Amino acid sequence: MTFEQLFGTNPLVRASAPGRVNLIGEHTDYNGGYVLPTVIPQRTVVELARRSGGRVRALSVNAGKPVPFEYIVGTESRRGRWIDYLQGITWVLTKAGFGLGGADIRIESTVPLGSGLSSSAALEIALLRAFRDAYTLPLEDVQMALLGQRAENEFVGAPVGVMDQMACTLAGPGQALFLDTRSLDWTVVPLPSSAELIVLNSGVTHNHAKGDYRTRRAECEEAARRLGVAQLRDLDVQDLPRVMELPEPFGRRARHVVTEDARVLAAVRALESGDVEALGQLFYASHDSMRDDYDVSIAEIDLVVDLARAMPEVHGARLTGGGFGGSVVMLVKPGTGAAVASRIAADYAARSGKTPTVLVPE
Ligand code: ADP
Ligand code: MG
Repeated sequence: MTFEQLFGTNPLVRASAPGRVNLIGEHTDYNGGYVLPTVIPQRTVVELARRSGGRVRALSVNAGKPVPFEYIVGTESRRGRWIDYLQGITWVLTKAGFGLGGADIRIESTVPLGSGLSSSAALEIALLRAFRDAYTLPLEDVQMALLGQRAENEFVGAPVGVMDQMACTLAGPGQALFLDTRSLDWTVVPLPSSAELIVLNSGVTHNHAKGDYRTRRAECEEAARRLGVAQLRDLDVQDLPRVMELPEPFGRRARHVVTEDARVLAAVRALESGDVEALGQLFYASHDSMRDDYDVSIAEIDLVVDLARAMPEVHGARLTGGGFGGSVVMLVKPGTGAAVASRIAADYAARSGKTPTVLVPE
């Protein structure tokens, strides 16, 4: 149903935000380090009309019932459903002192939900942009990213970092966001037109992923404590001999973080000089480090990366996201993305018995 069919009027504003994929810089965020995400072509679109009074009526084409959910601004309460992302946004805007009225809202997205491409941040930022435009709120980009994160942390109840919201607020098509997660300093780096991205979901999700993630975080904190630094971010490759004197598994965990931060810096230099070969090698090195030092890869993901290594069109491939399943991001020669992705997906499906999905290209 169109907005007009739903609400009997035309939308006042139409706003959108993209999903994202992290190119390199994995498990560095909670160590105060660097990340390098980029946006994907899929987007979430929010159409919004103002309503007098505080009533909000909202429908998502992608989730929930085919009838609008209704509530009054100021009475938000957590339901454990998709609507919490919207309620979280009106709640956080009100808390931050932005006066809001009601709204009729229609949401439609091409970002796959819950696949690690950050449909949640795309939704938050698209909603924030729609409210900003409809109510002429003086909101800046980084402020919107932080408000989106706060809504997700404090209202939805998901303890996420700020990378996703920063990526989808600040990076445009063909750009990566180089973000220092401690200082929040950032720059936008253009992606070379001499490469194309693939994101292939392995079809494997690990039900211990949350527990293992907590363990890794705790191991990093312990390693930092033993090395006498506030965060592993405070070390660099010169410190590796000292790092490797730590007992198992702390030395390897810290080595991943220290070398991964260095790889993000090297990846930015590779992007700036348009060296896609070097960038691809950094992808492979990052993957090896996640597999051997950080122990967050699994056999199926390693199989995808090994299939990629055997293809001349592929510059580099690595596990993206927290690990224990999930997706592989690959850098390939331009114009080959669709063909290479379906070839690797077919080989992988035949050898693993799993059901992969090509998320990018669309
Ligand atoms: P990811 O961000 O990796 O896609 P999350 O679990 O963080 O996964 O967020 C997915 C959740 O966000 C969905 O289950 C849903 O509640 C909400 N969501 C995201 N996009 C939409 C949408 N277009 N319509 C409704 N809900 C959405
Ligand atoms: Mg998310």
